[in-house]
This record gives sequence, structure tokens and C-alpha cells, in this order.
Amino acid sequence: MKDMKKTQAVLADGREIVYYDTRDEGVRTAVDTRDLAPVVSGSEMRYDRLLDEWVVVASHRQTRTHLPAADACPLCPSTPERATEVPEADYEVVVFENRFPSMSGGGAEREALAPGWADDPFPRRPSGGRCEVMCFTPEHDASFKDLTPERARLVLDAWTDRTAELSALPGVEQVYCFENRGREIGVTLPHSHGQIYAYPFVTPRTAAMIASTAAHRHRTGRNLFEDVVAAERADGARIVAENAHWTAFVPAAARWPYEVHLYPNRRVPDLLALDEDARAAFGGTYLDLLRRFDRLFDGEPAPYIAAWQQAPVRSGRVDFALHLELFSIRRAPGKLKYLAGSESGMGVFISDVPPETAAARLREVGE
Ligand SMILES: [Zn+2]
Repeated sequence: MKDMKKTQAVLADGREIVYYDTRDEGVRTAVDTRDLAPVVSGSEMRYDRLLDEWVVVASHRQTRTHLPAADACPLCPSTPERATEVPEADYEVVVFENRFPSMSGGGAEREALAPGWADDPFPRRPSGGRCEVMCFTPEHDASFKDLTPERARLVLDAWTDRTAELSALPGVEQVYCFENRGREIGVTLPHSHGQIYAYPFVTPRTAAMIASTAAHRHRTGRNLFEDVVAAERADGARIVAENAHWTAFVPAAARWPYEVHLYPNRRVPDLLALDEDARAAFGGTYLDLLRRFDRLFDGEPAPYIAAWQQAPVRSGRVDFALHLELFSIRRAPGKLKYLAGSESGMGVFISDVPPETAAARLREVGE
């Protein structure tokens, strides 16, 4: 990663905060003056024996901040009158531990699961893992798409650094960086931010991709991700944008009305393995996609989720392909796609927008 200045500090309740700056003159020495009660984190993991999946139960989060007024935003920089989550008067990109974490305990050694644990009638354990918040800009009303390519690049480098730091914590099995925008999808703070979850297990979605790639490798001797991307490039019908380092397409079996998968042209398992050329080209490529999303619905901002899919820390790394999945739940102006009976009850998505139509629309609204 190129010149990035990283400054670590501690908030009043002991949570870690890390500033990422491109400039060197920004000395980050402000102290958190708030009188904060210690973070309550009583979450636990329960194992669903039928689905072979962990569920995180985090009942202590009910009191978390919900849609505060702009003058009470906890993600804006602090002022002499008001101390926020960020003690500094300004910042570029900043990351801190979530005050209302759904998972915590990362950093402590975890007791290994006892043999036969899955046959316990009600398998459960303290959650482990860690949840962080990342702010991309000190400006309250800016959205990610309003950032400069340089700032987007700094965010990418910060995501990469968090992946390295959190992967090194005992008990962390997978690091998930994501961003979402819009109260339609449950964002409770309007200030542009993302989150990072360090899970103490491999997530079901990643496990499914690893199983598919292993089966494909066994059958064909090839890499499934590479075959999928090559097929999309050869076919072209669902390509949204491509350049020397990145390819963006609507997947042939897209689940969401507007869904784009962005792959680096050179396959890597995670953010840490991205080369300098791909990093340099990321900002422009990603911002272009976000701006296309915002032109889809008569200027009505598209609520979206941008989810980095990366290999787990310890398993399934050889055949994995880092990529970003960007999708909106809006299907038409004023209309949202809800997870209804089939999606919620059976996990079967029924899509209202043919992927080829979505790709054509996304090409049309390019600059
Ligand atoms: Zn704010």
C-alpha cells in the first residue's frame, strides 16, 4: 500500500480507534473527553443443528443510536461544544470498535469446542469476533459516490489494513468489510460509513462458494471463479464495465433487482493480495458503479449494500477469488424488493428484473 499514515488511539471506554491519512501533517493526538460507561457485550452464538449454521444473539443492542438528528451525529468529527465517537476535529478515514457490537471478544483466546459439541442439544458459546465502524469522510451529508478516487483508494487501503489486523486476532476465521446506504435497508446512521465484521467462523455464503469451487476443481481441474468471469467476458451480455484491472458484470443468476459483481482481473484470495495496479484503478471503477446505481431511479438515491467477499483466514484460500458484490433492493422508483415468502421461507430468490435487462440499464446510465 502506498503512503498511508496510520495512527492508533483509545476511546474513553477502552475501544480502539485508528486514523488513516494520506497527509503526513495531520497529527492525531485529540483525547476522548467523554464519560462513557464500559461497552456492554453479552452476545452469544447458537448453533442451528439443522442448517449447520451459527446464529448470533445480541440482545444488548436494543438501546443503540437510531437515526439521530444531524447535530447529534456520533460519526461527525468532535467540536469544542460536542464530543463524538471521533475525538479529532477532522479526519480522512477513521475506524473504531463498534459501541454496540453484535460480536465481541476478538483478541482473547477462545476455548476450543469440545469433541461432539454439535450433538449437544443446544450448542452455544460466547460470541467472539469483533465489529468495527469505518467512516469514509468527515462530511455528514456526503455519500460514498461523492468521494474522490483518491479517498476511495484510501478506504480500500484501510479495508486492507483492517483485514490484516483482524485476521491476526485469535479466533477470527473470516473478515467481512461492507458498506450500506439507505434507511430502507436498515442503516441507522445517515453519516456515510461502513462496517467490518470479524467472524469467529466461516460464514455460510463463503462456505457454499468454497464447496462449489472444490467440486469444480475436482471435476474439471480448473478454477470456478476464473471460469465464471471468463464466461461473462466472452458472452458480454451482462458486462457493465471493464478496464485493464477490473471487470464488473451482473451475474447470470442475479438475486437482486440490480446486482453487480466486481472482480480484479488477476484473481487473488483477499484484499491483502491485490496488487498496486488494481488498487490504483479501484477508486474510479467503484465510484463509476455507484454513480450508475444512483442514475437508475430518476435521481432517487438507490439503497445499496456493497459486500466484499474474501477468503477465510485459514481455510478455502487456494481457489477463492476476492470480489465485491454490490446490489440494490430497489426494483423501480418508489418500489423495493422485499424478502417475501419464497426468499425468507425457503431461501429461493424470485427476481423481477432479468439480469440482461439490468446490465443493459446499467450500461445505459454510464457517463
Ligand atoms: Zn455526521
